[in-house]
Amino acid sequence: MDRLAHLAEQYPELPARALLKAHLLFEGIRFNGAVGEAGRWALPSFKPYTPSVAERAARLPATVPIPYLMHLAEGELVRVKCDPESPYEVVAEGDRTHLLLDGEVLEPITFQRRPQWMAKTTADGHPTASAGLSQHGDMLVINPAPGCDFFTERDAAGHSLHCSFCAYGRPDERSRALGQVAGQGPIAADGLARVVEATLAAIPEVRHIYLVAGSLTDSHAEAERYLQLTEALIGAGVTLPITAGPSALARADTAALKQAGAAAVSYNLEVWGEPLFAAICPGKHRFVGYETWLARLTDAVAVMGAGNVLTAMVAGIEVDHPAGFASVEAALDHAEAGADWLLGHRIAPVYSLHWSTRHATYGHVSTPAFDYYLRLAGRVAALRRRHGATVPAHIVCRGCAYMQLDPDCCSIREGR
Ligand code: SF4
Repeated sequence: MDRLAHLAEQYPELPARALLKAHLLFEGIRFNGAVGEAGRWALPSFKPYTPSVAERAARLPATVPIPYLMHLAEGELVRVKCDPESPYEVVAEGDRTHLLLDGEVLEPITFQRRPQWMAKTTADGHPTASAGLSQHGDMLVINPAPGCDFFTERDAAGHSLHCSFCAYGRPDERSRALGQVAGQGPIAADGLARVVEATLAAIPEVRHIYLVAGSLTDSHAEAERYLQLTEALIGAGVTLPITAGPSALARADTAALKQAGAAAVSYNLEVWGEPLFAAICPGKHRFVGYETWLARLTDAVAVMGAGNVLTAMVAGIEVDHPAGFASVEAALDHAEAGADWLLGHRIAPVYSLHWSTRHATYGHVSTPAFDYYLRLAGRVAALRRRHGATVPAHIVCRGCAYMQLDPDCCSIREGR
């Protein structure tokens, strides 16, 4: 029995396409000439490939640019990871590229090209690519203030309050280049003008927009930033669905976002249960609080409408984190109970794969992590059917979800 047939037998509750995507996420593809060539023109991964000792001995350099994302034959988006032991590889023949599993052709794939808007410049001479925008498939991600104040806030013992899984929000050269000022909500006028201009340039290549930024200790100040962005984009004629992804905002701030034209909000709880939330997301817990976060999620459903409120969850951190569960079964039950509560309150949870360090998912497939991820996806899919819930495709869809299976298990747009 081949590997995919074996997976289908092991996880009959999951669609075959979702299994292929999950398997690729964990196994990666072998680096070869086709991947190296695509690294020259595709949207680049922010993490270049580090070849193995054997590959370096075969004259590969210490690091090699690789594509960030690839589309499978039915439009699914998958993050590219290279692993010399993967059973997958890609081969290019003329203008077509195929995915192979154990040497057998599976299907045609494409690497996501570098978007055309990234090659443009704004009226004041800045590269559009430096305005704080990025693109995942058909989603434009606008992040003009990436530095998160939770990295610099400390608890009484001097520990940083950033979320334990996050490196993305660390204040660094990106935030300095964008002119971000720590603790300040609104974006400076020149930066805002560049964001709007770059967005208008990107519109022909995307289908929906996600606003994100580093968190502030004052969620109302954070709301002002998102309000400013939404108003500026809508005022410039943007009609694509805009999802705002700040900290969980107070009801009045959510209402102001809706009034400004935001289609949806994503208040990312990350992990179910107050003890885990406090341990894994100490900044969110200190400056908003677990119970308040839940209350603001349910308020958001009342304000925005069912199908327009999402919360991102980090799948697997409840087994990987030291404060998590020692038993996989207990962790699954716990995460499932969370999904049941969220879906019962018409909040859409979406589960991003946690690249486990404890189970070493980089380099080799980690059977415990892989099995956990698939079993959780199966349980959540079953809950969605029971609740009559869907994954709202104007927020997250198969064409943009590069590390989540939810839209591949269920993707129908709910009412706005
Ligand atoms: S709130 Fe957490 S996940 Fe978001 S940027 Fe800050 S540390 Fe990262």
